[in-house]
Amino acid sequence: MFLFFPLELVHEIIAWLLITPTSAEQAGTNPKPKWSLIASFSSASKTYRTLALEAWFRVLFLRSPQDLLFLKENLQEIRSSWTRELHCIANYHRQLDGHPWDLAGFCRLQTIRLHCSSIVVVKERLPFINIPPSVMEVDLRDLTWPSPFVFQAITATFPDLRTLRLSQRRVWCGLCHTCSTVKFVEPVPSKLVYKEGFGLPIHYARALAPMRYLHTVRITIPYTNGTSIRLNPDDPAKDMWSGECEDCVRIMYADADFLERWIARKGGTFLSNLPGKDAERLYIKPPALETVEWTFWRSEIDDDEELEEEEDLALADYDEE
Ligand SMILES: [Zn+2]
Repeated sequence: MFLFFPLELVHEIIAWLLITPTSAEQAGTNPKPKWSLIASFSSASKTYRTLALEAWFRVLFLRSPQDLLFLKENLQEIRSSWTRELHCIANYHRQLDGHPWDLAGFCRLQTIRLHCSSIVVVKERLPFINIPPSVMEVDLRDLTWPSPFVFQAITATFPDLRTLRLSQRRVWCGLCHTCSTVKFVEPVPSKLVYKEGFGLPIHYARALAPMRYLHTVRITIPYTNGTSIRLNPDDPAKDMWSGECEDCVRIMYADADFLERWIARKGGTFLSNLPGKDAERLYIKPPALETVEWTFWRSEIDDDEELEEEEDLALADYDEE
């Protein structure tokens, strides 16, 4: 008996089989299933092979910009129609060699994920050129030193983004102007969500302000046990925590007047009795920004020295590839 199976259904089944996890993979590894999962299916007929290849290359994993050169001559459908998500590994030395990812011809590309173990900003931009207008989302993983300089580079490289996801090891403190690890008094809510475009460190928000369409920013960051910053589970946004480090909070929040002025600044206003300096750095949000979401996870690494050792090891792993 001939069994007819609609191609649309076959397409859905293959797409489901190849769904990749979005968060649990180890930094810099390829989360895609093995090709062997669908190899037999792809051999069944020419039509099935095309379906398998299309589903397989929906997410394209690249270890270096030079990998794209191969695609210029082979399987041109990858660029022209198959790939919707690009996963890239940023290697410190390769970036300094000046080879950006050339995305010309990726007509249906929607999301770019970049694993960056170290410096990724080159000439004030991230290492991508010829970015198609279809790109709506960028996901930067493993940012070790996310200064406002990195956010300026994001804005310069992807001015028309809708969603920005960041996984970072530290965060910018708007009071001491340094990148610091996060310390909270436990228990800590798993998420902290702000609406109406507030909730970023002031310097991040100002760097992203030229992005006209940016709607959502999601930041994932580890924390360790601290003594001064308490996110009340019933009202975690009370002091509008947005990156302040433990030392600054302990020392500066003891001054109730300062705290009132600081929260006002984070809300985009300054109080009339302020000294002039306070007006210099108000929160300015990107015009379409609606949601800022922080996601926290408990880290076992308690001090910066230990974290730097781990980052050095990760960098060495990248260099050995
Ligand atoms: Zn600080």
